[in-house]
Amino acid sequence: MRLAPRHLADLDPAGRRAWAQELGYPGMRAAQLATHYFGHLTADPAAMTDLPAGTRAELAATFLPPLLTPVAQQVADGGRTVKTLFHLHDGIAIETVTMAYPDRVTVCVSAQAGCGMGCPFCATGQLGLQRNLSAGEIVEQVRQAAALARDRDLGRLSNVVFMGMGEPLANYSAVARSLRAISEAPPAGLGISARNLTVSTCGLVNGIGRLAAEGLPVRLAVSLHAPDDELRDRLVPVNRRWPISQVLRAAHGYFAASGRRVSVEYALIRDINDQQWRASLLAERLTHYGTGWVHVNPIPLNPVAGSVWTASRPEAENAFVETLRRAGLTVTLRDTRGREIDGACGQLAAKEAKANG
Ligand code: SAH
Ligand code: SF4
Repeated sequence: MRLAPRHLADLDPAGRRAWAQELGYPGMRAAQLATHYFGHLTADPAAMTDLPAGTRAELAATFLPPLLTPVAQQVADGGRTVKTLFHLHDGIAIETVTMAYPDRVTVCVSAQAGCGMGCPFCATGQLGLQRNLSAGEIVEQVRQAAALARDRDLGRLSNVVFMGMGEPLANYSAVARSLRAISEAPPAGLGISARNLTVSTCGLVNGIGRLAAEGLPVRLAVSLHAPDDELRDRLVPVNRRWPISQVLRAAHGYFAASGRRVSVEYALIRDINDQQWRASLLAERLTHYGTGWVHVNPIPLNPVAGSVWTASRPEAENAFVETLRRAGLTVTLRDTRGREIDGACGQLAAKEAKANG
């Protein structure tokens, strides 16, 4: 696995300053470059008129190397959803989706190229893990989305969800560093409130504990998909290591530590996990800790090529949601924005990877 070139966004402000000095530049150059990158969302030396003309290009190339090259873009929902396929420096593909809503603009970012967790209903899971992304590669997805939202008049980028390719808690240190660089105020970071960042995990209990100890008020989403270990062992194989009881205990611990309500994600798969008894069992297991700590987000399965699994029937979906609501839980059916451009579930990049053999 070839690492990405080092980038200003890989380091905290003190580290950026030390890096500039190490290379013989005045330490203040790091803060000037950070102001352009995080504050003005640009890595283009032509815009950096406060830097000495003779070294602008060299400074930008050294500290802000191009990490992501856009190679394809798909637009849907009347221009309100934009999916970009990027190549990393080593040619590996990842994707990022920007979605504009009336009250917010959200970007869905990838934390890894591919994923090693092997969930059989997930397109990214079929790829296996290609490599971890660096903090800079994660932040750069957000920086480019913020510039895109601005340039297309979609509004200011306000939310970031780690629901693209990969398992964020399996790439913990880069993800934690990216959360700081995304949430710190400019010029240290992009200034997107930590409360508007969501980290979605398939249930890595050790990572949930580490994230709780981080002290950042980010939202945690847990991809549960089944209320019983027998089924979850199949749908989310890492359940064999950390079963549901441990995942829910860690998720509730995250709520207790952060005060942030945890989201439980549940992809509704026809006749697999959408039965009434499973809705009741899910309600029972979640309300074991009360009702105020959790919010359930069912989403109709986005079928992947070559799989026999399909989305639940609307009646099953409604009955499932009603059962949870009757138990006092809050439930929002997650929208399927961008479905006609293959959703946010790694499918475009997965297709390209398959086409390239
Ligand atoms: N690896 C992390 C985050 C990326 S996946 C995780 O699993 O949580 C983001 C969300 O999309 C997860 O809830 C995941 O279970 C869900 N997902 C994956 N494939 C899907 C599909 N085909 N249909 C619907 N949701 C899917
Ligand atoms: Fe990985 Fe999440 Fe897909 Fe599972 S659902 S394979 S953890 S990206």
